[in-house]
Amino acid sequence: MRISPAKAIDLLQRGEVVAIPTETVYGLAADASNELAIAKIYATKQRPANNPLIVHIASATQVVDWASEFPPLAHRLVQAFWPGPLTLVLPARAEVSTIVRAGEPTVALRVPAHPIALALLRDSGLGLAAPSANKYTQLSPTTADHVEAGLGAEIPVLDGGACQIGIESTIVSITGDTWQLLRPGMIDEAAITLIAGRPANQSVTHTPKAPGQHLLHYSPHTPCLLFTSRPALMDYAANKPGGAALLFGDDIANLKTTITLPAEPAVAAEQLYASLHTLDAAQASVILIESPPDTPAWAAVRDRLQRATYQPVSQND
Ligand code: AMP
Ligand code: MG
Repeated sequence: MRISPAKAIDLLQRGEVVAIPTETVYGLAADASNELAIAKIYATKQRPANNPLIVHIASATQVVDWASEFPPLAHRLVQAFWPGPLTLVLPARAEVSTIVRAGEPTVALRVPAHPIALALLRDSGLGLAAPSANKYTQLSPTTADHVEAGLGAEIPVLDGGACQIGIESTIVSITGDTWQLLRPGMIDEAAITLIAGRPANQSVTHTPKAPGQHLLHYSPHTPCLLFTSRPALMDYAANKPGGAALLFGDDIANLKTTITLPAEPAVAAEQLYASLHTLDAAQASVILIESPPDTPAWAAVRDRLQRATYQPVSQND
């Protein structure tokens, strides 16, 4: 159900959930300071309560309302990348709801770079918890149509067109003057290293619970297989017809339903979920996916595809 910005503010202030556009993916938003509202996010998504939510704020001046520490390293990253697709995990103030942070001592914060989301945050005066507006483990939505297809026609959606980044934010956890990459995104590790002035600290042992780190995630209904080479994918397709395919670069698959994304990471990311939604709707027996190149620029897209195609190894294997 498409709603106006005024209606969205009204619903959010009354503790209801609203799907909102951001530059990454559509979020299922609710007042981050209202625990009943937060509970509605978990219920709508059927998301386990041990997976913390990202709190979206209107500007960096609000970090101190949520975080108990705002170290110089976090300041530098905020200056360089906000508003934008970077989430910072910082020590939480005691009064931040333990439901939002799923019992973690930390809170995840982001200022989104989307005019509608920013206006909503500013005009409502709220911090908005907003995980992707889809059921747990399923494909993230990058259009209002995707949201309604996944959560039902009754879900209130603020339509802001198609998302420009197309995959979820990079998540960086900050401890004093060190940092750790919790989830790759389109702001890549090299860009963060440059601004941070030092590489990630790999030796940090506390790994927060993270739905973005679950092995099966971002996944279509149709079974998916990931191939490390184009010939291997073509061999499989030749032996088992009826599949659909997602390729990167030149299109030579010649299957019935093939989507070929450009060999350009930012464009491929923008179109990734929409392509998977389209292939899912084609009702193929399987979606054959070519793995993009094993280079840092493709890390975030590769991460999402590995999780979309994750298959637990059975005990007999
Ligand atoms: P999403 O499903 O896109 O909302 O992802 C939420 C992500 O934010 C998770 O994957 C976590 O890695 C991260 N996150 C959120 N809140 C926290 C927190 N309090 N501490 C650590 N990580 C968090
Ligand atoms: Mg999600």
